[in-house]
Amino acid sequence: MIAAADFNITRVEISKLNDLNLQNIPFGKYFTDHMLEADYEDGEWKNIEIKPYQPLLLSPSVAAIHYGQAIFEGIKAYKNQLGEAYIFRPFDNFKRFNISAERMAMPQISEEIFMEGMRQLIELDKNWIPHQEDHSLYIRPFMFSSDEVIGVRPSDKYKFMVILSPTGPYYSAPMKIYVEENYVRAVPGGVGYAKAAGNYGAAMYATAEAKKKGYDQVLWTDAYEHKYVQECGTMNVFFIIGNTAITPDLEPGTILHGVTRDSTMTLLAELGFSVEERALSIDDIVDAYKAGVLYEVFGTGTAATISMIKELRYKDFTMHFDVDKWKTAPEVKSKLSAIKEGRIADKYDWMFKV
Ligand SMILES: *Cc1c(COP(=O)(O)O)cnc(C)c1O
Repeated sequence: MIAAADFNITRVEISKLNDLNLQNIPFGKYFTDHMLEADYEDGEWKNIEIKPYQPLLLSPSVAAIHYGQAIFEGIKAYKNQLGEAYIFRPFDNFKRFNISAERMAMPQISEEIFMEGMRQLIELDKNWIPHQEDHSLYIRPFMFSSDEVIGVRPSDKYKFMVILSPTGPYYSAPMKIYVEENYVRAVPGGVGYAKAAGNYGAAMYATAEAKKKGYDQVLWTDAYEHKYVQECGTMNVFFIIGNTAITPDLEPGTILHGVTRDSTMTLLAELGFSVEERALSIDDIVDAYKAGVLYEVFGTGTAATISMIKELRYKDFTMHFDVDKWKTAPEVKSKLSAIKEGRIADKYDWMFKV
């Protein structure tokens, strides 16, 4: 571990927190007093600093803006019943961050900088973690190329940063989803499994088109046949068919390996479902719906945890769901919240103490 002394810490003189009410605070709009910043140069990470949250001064030629070497993570910290700060499964995000970095030809980050840097930053700003049900501190680690050269090649310089944003309940109304058969999010051999900034930019047009038709999000399908489902917007997706919970498998590299996905699979198994990771075609989904055995469909992700799907439109056929009667998605969601907020035992060792 890098000792505290190895990080250069500069504290704010006056906290912005005094002017803010953390209750029901909107997602991603306010940032805490401090941020972490580190530079990759000459093959190593240096200048590891925790300092007041502030704008960056960048050259217009900075490589990330032109060629898109940029990756990120999304993690949450909570306060338990005693007011102690815990982070939900941060090691999984740390591992995934380096998988994304490798795919984007970016350098690996050490556990010391990612984990210990994040921990010290949160320790410093822990008064910003709201202590109320369904509230949390959203953690956004990210890395981007910072060479000041307009030449197409992996950058020699990178910046790693962590910023923190307190957030209230991310209310996600049950969604209307459009099964996308024209645009694609991910292809085998592509970057779908990486949390790369460009994946988001590339998805926005299709989502905007679906919104024009009156839908909240798209359900992505495979690039070759538009037959196998992948993800729902920027969330992993689950289908409860009979006593089986099915989520698309990671194999073709088109699915983001979600931490909420993994936690949901564990909790669904605990509830007695047989959990399957496999290819699932939209035809099988329609057949299950027509047979009356497609009970629940929902998305999973750190921001909203679980978002229920009330309408699923495929070509001219619309599947309607009575989400108010659902038991499984709400149960998984409330169990996850209870673990995160320390109201029930953390038997899978998911919580990491700050
Ligand atoms: C981040 C993300 C998810 C959800 O991952 P979690 O680890 O559960 O937050 C799912 N799909 C995509 C495309 C994502 O970027």
